[in-house]
Amino acid sequence: MKFADIGLSDELLRAVTEAGYDEPTPIQAGAIPSVLMMRDMIGIAQTGTGKTASFVLPMIDILAHGRARARMPRSLILEPTRELAAQVAENFEKYGKYHKLSMALLIGGVQMGDQVKALEKGVDVLIATPGRLMDLFERGKILLTGCNLLVIDEADRMLDMGFIPDIENICTKLPANRQTLLFSATMPPPIKKLADKFLSNPKTIEV
Ligand code: AMP
Repeated sequence: MKFADIGLSDELLRAVTEAGYDEPTPIQAGAIPSVLMMRDMIGIAQTGTGKTASFVLPMIDILAHGRARARMPRSLILEPTRELAAQVAENFEKYGKYHKLSMALLIGGVQMGDQVKALEKGVDVLIATPGRLMDLFERGKILLTGCNLLVIDEADRMLDMGFIPDIENICTKLPANRQTLLFSATMPPPIKKLADKFLSNPKTIEV
């Protein structure tokens, strides 16, 4: 399969070509069409399989075709560590360079001031670690009611780090009829339980 046949917009194809890729990896070929069809999805894939692009590319497409709601984030990506969150933000900028979408990187270990300023200006996408997201939410700095697309990345690492209660809490703040994508290298029982609770009729793609 070629990227050109996967259903992405011309602007995204251009950014993908400029990144040097012409063929989607198996997780991308499996995930992108079903994410574009607004389905919930479980991706069982390790880092290194190209899984970041498998959710960032269709997310940009969905955001570009939707209508911005003033100051309200429309997508949320949860990552277990600051480093992973920063990497996803870099990917978002690389693939989204032909789109006017804005994002906020909400990670711990840095001052909140700039993050709060970005949120006040209004952003399309939040890329966050669970602790900092909850902290900002509890301070009343984030509205999550417009977040119709949620990505829970590296779910098994989230479990190891004790983030599952935070994730459950965050899920209850998002619209119930949202689209949810969950990625994990393995599917231990607590992750299976999380998926059963918060995803609806997901398509599972294992690579
Ligand atoms: P990830 O699994 O998302 O961490 O991606 C692993 C690496 O694969 C990253 O360095 C990407 O830049 C690269 N990559 C992503 N998609 C493709 C692709 N379709 N073809 C070749 N490399 C890719």
